[in-house]
Amino acid sequence: MIFKISQLIQIFVVSFLLFVELVNGRPFAYHYNLIDSSHHEIDMNVKVESAPDDNIKSGSESLPWNYEDSDNWNKVFDSCNGRYQSPINIDPSKAIKKSSPNLVFGNYDHSWPMNITNDGHTVILDLSTNGKIPFIRGGGLPDEFNFAQLHFHWGGDSGRGSEHLIQSKRFSGELHFVHYNSKYGSFAKATKHKDGVAVLAIFMEIGPTDNNALSHIVGQFGEILKVGQTTRLQTPILLRDLLPVNVQNFYKYTGSLTTPSCQEVVSWTVFESPIVVSEHQLNQFRQLFDKKGRSLYDNYRPIQEDHGRIITYHSGNEIHSEPLQSWEQNILDFFKSSQFDSEQFFKWRPFSHFDKLTNPLEIPNWS
Ligand SMILES: [Zn+2]
Repeated sequence: MIFKISQLIQIFVVSFLLFVELVNGRPFAYHYNLIDSSHHEIDMNVKVESAPDDNIKSGSESLPWNYEDSDNWNKVFDSCNGRYQSPINIDPSKAIKKSSPNLVFGNYDHSWPMNITNDGHTVILDLSTNGKIPFIRGGGLPDEFNFAQLHFHWGGDSGRGSEHLIQSKRFSGELHFVHYNSKYGSFAKATKHKDGVAVLAIFMEIGPTDNNALSHIVGQFGEILKVGQTTRLQTPILLRDLLPVNVQNFYKYTGSLTTPSCQEVVSWTVFESPIVVSEHQLNQFRQLFDKKGRSLYDNYRPIQEDHGRIITYHSGNEIHSEPLQSWEQNILDFFKSSQFDSEQFFKWRPFSHFDKLTNPLEIPNWS
């Protein structure tokens, strides 16, 4: 039998792909989705289109990793050895108070079809639609950031599980809403830029009752017990239902993805208020299996050095589920900006003669 050169090349390529599938035990295309092979912060719908970061060893995105070996991640993934890694312990007494426009949640109160996946490291929820997507802006973020996916971190018991610590306190779990800077078009492209990613971190704290929104998610864990299993969420949830009641009190700092390749591209927003979940719900997380067929838990990275990073604390009391109109936001931004001098404004106002009737020295306090 005579083969043309092009046929030989095809045979070689197909054989190579089959070999890779055999080695990895999963389809090659799945491998390139980086669901399991790189880190769960990556949007599973986004394929890697170009070469990895310069500081990532070639091909390292596809290397396996696990939490037991987190001290050695930096031997394979250079970025994991950086100075601006996450998670960190947040010391509230050292946080600098800062005012900023309120954090705005766009399309967080719409429901979409969602998929849930067990990737062996966590449970990921992503939207299975290409329509308009949720986004965030304000709250000290430089741009608008589109929702990519959300996932969870939890412990073997409820005394541990969160990635970040507040004043050395570890919570029972942590929920991450991962967003990418909309100007980069996709999560994969955004991870190559310092202002590429924004993650909202929400602590999970044990309480006496089930968390309603979470119950729709954990109720389907029986369908994704094994690694690589995906299912469609049957009861649509609103993303805002997984947010804490107070979304305007939070800490901010600059850090990294908390899983390999640990790129230092994340603007972290860590909410002060936790959401409450039940022990029963956390037990359902612990029934999932990892790649080795063991129970999946303690999927949090150890605390990293902050290396003197500035942590800011933002507080407010307004809650938005819909974005403001741009003219509304502009007015709000102006009044909260340093250009606005409230003292001068009230001294100047044309009704100042009324003040004289009450107390001429008193400056109205509208805060
Ligand atoms: Zn995470």
